[in-house]
Amino acid sequence: MWGHGNAVPLHDCGCTIQRSVHVQIVTHFLTTMPEPLQKIERTLQQLEAGTNEQVSALFVEVRKKFNDQEALRRKENNPTNLLVFWTTWLGRKSGVLTKITENWLKPSPPDLKRIVGQELNSLKAHIEAVRLEQTAATEMAAESAASLREREDLSLPGVARPLGSRHPLRQTFEEIERIFLSLGYSVVAGPEMETPYYNFEALNIPEHHPARDNMDTFYMAAPSGAAPLLLRTHTSPMQIRTMEKQQPPVRIIVPGKVYRRDNPDATHGFMFHQIEGLAVDTDITFCDFRGTVEYFVREFLGPKVKTRLRPSYFPFTEPSVEVDATCVFCAGKGCNVCKQSGWIELFGAGMVDPAVYGFVNYDAKKLSGFAFGLGVERLTQLKYNINDLQLYFQNDVRFLRQFA
Ligand SMILES: [Zn+2]
Repeated sequence: MWGHGNAVPLHDCGCTIQRSVHVQIVTHFLTTMPEPLQKIERTLQQLEAGTNEQVSALFVEVRKKFNDQEALRRKENNPTNLLVFWTTWLGRKSGVLTKITENWLKPSPPDLKRIVGQELNSLKAHIEAVRLEQTAATEMAAESAASLREREDLSLPGVARPLGSRHPLRQTFEEIERIFLSLGYSVVAGPEMETPYYNFEALNIPEHHPARDNMDTFYMAAPSGAAPLLLRTHTSPMQIRTMEKQQPPVRIIVPGKVYRRDNPDATHGFMFHQIEGLAVDTDITFCDFRGTVEYFVREFLGPKVKTRLRPSYFPFTEPSVEVDATCVFCAGKGCNVCKQSGWIELFGAGMVDPAVYGFVNYDAKKLSGFAFGLGVERLTQLKYNINDLQLYFQNDVRFLRQFA
């Protein structure tokens, strides 16, 4: 046993192990150290080693001790012991190599210095080589552990990204566009801010015309002297804009937002969506009109739905009709939605009033055509039995998810 405390390498390694634990481990090492290592506490003189052979024999003992301890440490494979092990052998203040330098090499007689130096260097090289090998092995183990940890596990479930869906109104838009594109119509868009001319006058709705009363209009604040602007109350202005630019035949639909000064409730909003339709050519008859309307309704609501036309009035069509369909909820038998009538009102339409052609320099004697205005909210409500228009705009995913 090492007799004096100050020779014990207690916690001089700068390691982070708790001092008491460190002392315990070091003490364990030291108490299990057999005779050879205790000799490094004494000088060669005290050990009575006076010849090269005796010195070499001492180093052989020390090296054997190192190899034995290294083998033991490898077997235990404890990272805490590892640190203490290397501190014991290589610690700068009181490691074994330092002790040999201090106790054997420095005080050795001149004739032994050479052999002590040689043997010490050889031992040092041996210990360093083992330490390098051990460090590399530790690093490799850490690396393979890390690569094992980072390996992609293909059995893990994927990250589910919630998919959005198209808004029910957008779905209706696309459905209607699909139907009319298949009939040879083109889709055009127009400005939401319009002049009174395109929104009213050119559509045969002069100032003071009672039809303007039905469309409470948002007027834009314009600088004095500037032409007044309004938010369009229907998509019909694009009839005029298209016919101004294009000679017949004209077959267009105009999807878009329209604005009216209505208080929001289950059937009204200050903004809603329309799809305007217009067909003008040299020989379009009322039969073409009726056939187109029936085809559209059957495509949109189903093949069993029947249509009927009721007389109505719009300033820019003559004759004007309301298009009704047999109720999709009761198949025409009568229910709450259709107020027991078996019919539901779909949209307004009619043959283009010849007066409108006058505004766009079309020859009213040679040309004829029809127009219709589909309410997108209403058609969506009928198709999916939605009872409140406000649901479209509240962004409640519980509502929207039903259309995903
Ligand atoms: Zn019904």
